[in-house]
Amino acid sequence: MEINIVKGTHDVFDDEARGFDYIEMVLKAVADLYSFNQIRTPIIEHTELFTRSVGESSDIVRKEMYTFLDKGDRSITLRPELTAGVMRSIVLNKLYATKDLPIKNYYVGPCFRYERPQAGRYRQFNQFGVESVGVTSPFQDLEVIMLGYDALRYLGFKKVNLVINSLGDKESRENYREALKNYFAAHLDEMCSDCKERFNINPLRILDCKVPSDHELALNAPKMRDYLTPSAKARFELITKTLDDYGIPYEIDDSLVRGLDYYSHIIFEFHYQTESGVDVGAIGAGGHYDSLLSEVGGPELSGVGIAFGIERLYAVMKEDNLLKDTEVKTDIYVMPIGEKAIEHAFSLAQVLRANAYRVEVCLENKSFKQLFKRAEHVNAQLALIIGDNEIANNEVIIKDLHTQKQVNLPLDNLLSTLDMMFNTEEEEHHEHCDHEHHECSCHHEE
Ligand code: AMP
Repeated sequence: MEINIVKGTHDVFDDEARGFDYIEMVLKAVADLYSFNQIRTPIIEHTELFTRSVGESSDIVRKEMYTFLDKGDRSITLRPELTAGVMRSIVLNKLYATKDLPIKNYYVGPCFRYERPQAGRYRQFNQFGVESVGVTSPFQDLEVIMLGYDALRYLGFKKVNLVINSLGDKESRENYREALKNYFAAHLDEMCSDCKERFNINPLRILDCKVPSDHELALNAPKMRDYLTPSAKARFELITKTLDDYGIPYEIDDSLVRGLDYYSHIIFEFHYQTESGVDVGAIGAGGHYDSLLSEVGGPELSGVGIAFGIERLYAVMKEDNLLKDTEVKTDIYVMPIGEKAIEHAFSLAQVLRANAYRVEVCLENKSFKQLFKRAEHVNAQLALIIGDNEIANNEVIIKDLHTQKQVNLPLDNLLSTLDMMFNTEEEEHHEHCDHEHHECSCHHEE
């Protein structure tokens, strides 16, 4: 009996797995440019971590967490995001005291949310993100926004929509919360049951409601920007002015509140619509936080972070052909002809790998047709064919799979011939491409 995959999860293999690898490699390289170091935190955390950080009023905590009691009766949750775990780690490992500030980490890994599965929305998905903790300057926020913008450019995006808003400081939010309560109080009867709850716990969440009539109401609600304290307003203006100065386009969205409770001041989302109009929601999002670290037992240090959804990035990049460099590439496919040749093929493959060639080898007795089908499947450039005659003569047949030309070659000359062939190809390739040597994906002997 087949066992079904859990709803909202998916297997990642072949093109998609290579795509994920490529996306993560580019994101890590950009995080490195901005001097972030990797952090790996557990997938399971105590539930309290998320109720205290992501917040009791967020949809995530209210209805989307995978929470269970372990065998020791502890309430454990599969992380719905990684920021909270990073903060817990900073606190428990006292990184704020033992390291210079800011503490700059990047992370990548799976998250779990019990959401309604749909395009771009899974119950297990992967995030790549950065957190910078310990600097209050708005330039720290800008640095993370620009890292996000750069990351998308390096991934090949030509045009992304950066949507921003400010949630101000605590005082701004308290004033705004009052104004919203006054406004929505008159409409309570018309609102959905979720929003009736949100009204009491956190009326800002109503602005995020997807129910059309509530959305309509939210459009006419008071605007956060009219309730910012002068210093919160100045901070937001400095950020927008700097984005202008750097030519980074953005749109201010008064209804942007983000789904997590820990933000203050700037919040942002990157959106992208494919050429054919596919929109998977935000591909990356983040914001500034002031009391997240203290909420989980640390000192009062501000921070800022961004997280990208790998599945969503992959979906839109695939749609718009931004994953060109990720097909399988094999330098050499070693083909044994007959049972006896398998052992020779096996040892030849090991020698070639020791010389840094990407090698696939057939380890079974297969027909020519099957062998060439496999060579095509692994996208091999060359085939090395060994049969009884070649073994007897200490030779190998070398076949260029693009031109289909083949020659017999003494085994002793194989490595020097391959070296020549691959290096010539590399030179020719570089004559035709603009890539710097280290950026190019062809075979390099360095
Ligand atoms: P958040 O932690 O909600 O700010 O989300 C950060 C990013 O993770 C989003 O911009 C999405 O790209 C991605 N993301 C969030 N939820 C999901 C989900 N259920 N499935 C796939 N990607 C998601």
